[in-house]
Amino acid sequence: MKTVTLRNGVTVPALGMGTWNIGDSASRRSSEIESLRKGLEAGLRVIDTAEMYGNGRSEDLVGEAIADVREEVYLVSKVVPSNASYDGVHKACRRSLKHLDTDWLDLYLLHWHGGTQLEETIRAFEDLKDEGLIRGWGVSNFDVDDMEEIESLSENCLVNQVLYNLEHRGTEFDLLDHDLKSGTVTMAYSPLGQGGELLEHPALKEVASRHETSLGPADPAQIALAWVLRRPNVLAIPKAASETHVAGNLASLEISLTDADLKTLDGAFPSPKRKLSLAMI
Ligand code: NDP
Repeated sequence: MKTVTLRNGVTVPALGMGTWNIGDSASRRSSEIESLRKGLEAGLRVIDTAEMYGNGRSEDLVGEAIADVREEVYLVSKVVPSNASYDGVHKACRRSLKHLDTDWLDLYLLHWHGGTQLEETIRAFEDLKDEGLIRGWGVSNFDVDDMEEIESLSENCLVNQVLYNLEHRGTEFDLLDHDLKSGTVTMAYSPLGQGGELLEHPALKEVASRHETSLGPADPAQIALAWVLRRPNVLAIPKAASETHVAGNLASLEISLTDADLKTLDGAFPSPKRKLSLAMI
């Protein structure tokens, strides 16, 4: 499996699992847990959640899904900017650990840049690391200027989690290269365009028709994921709430896009020619 290596030397698979909007429905709960379990069994060790997702309901479900395999998981959660003060981060982290029913997070991210001085949030992250409650920290939704600010304050930011898919290529202008050069792994969120119109696009269907996986003919979701995963230093975290979708996403790792495929996709979704403000969901 393709991997990425974080600046602290930890290597993880480049395909992980997102968990926004899971844990909200009693009727879907068991299939959501089974999907995460299936992904873990297949080696998708990175699970991304956040205190904000369902006010802790996503963290609760993740905690249940990983209870007996915690050591195998690379667990990521996020603190919202309104909790990014020194004390706020400490309280939020302990709350997240309780929801997740675990003693540590592998990675703790600032969900987006808010009003708190980054220096204060970093101090909280570093102290949590010293206490053993987190093993590393990073940020999310940071553009180049934010990254430059954080890099001027610390050398320990492991990850920048940003929106990246065929419909949102703005980061290709500068941010992805900036992160690559500075040694920060880019975690691509919403790589499937949230399962919306992107997956209906004729260009994706055309490219899919040229590929096969061990599951059979490729589909647009697999092409969308293979496209995100084509870049070095990028870890994609699609959210899948069914075993079929998890299996499909895993099979995307079998697809190598050709120059002709990339040309078709570039024609439909042009790469940026100038700086764009960072898109966020
Ligand atoms: P995704 O792009 O991952 O799309 C998820 C949607 O795609 C769901 O509707 C899912 O359906 C569907 N899907 C999954 N696999 C397949 C497949 N193989 N074929 C067809 N459809 C499929 O959107 P998200 O916004 O959820 O992004 C992924 C993760 O990124 C989030 O869950 C979250 O962890 C993180 N995130 C972080 C943000 C941040 O600000 N840091 C913002 C947004 C997301 P189903 O559920 O039925 O399987």
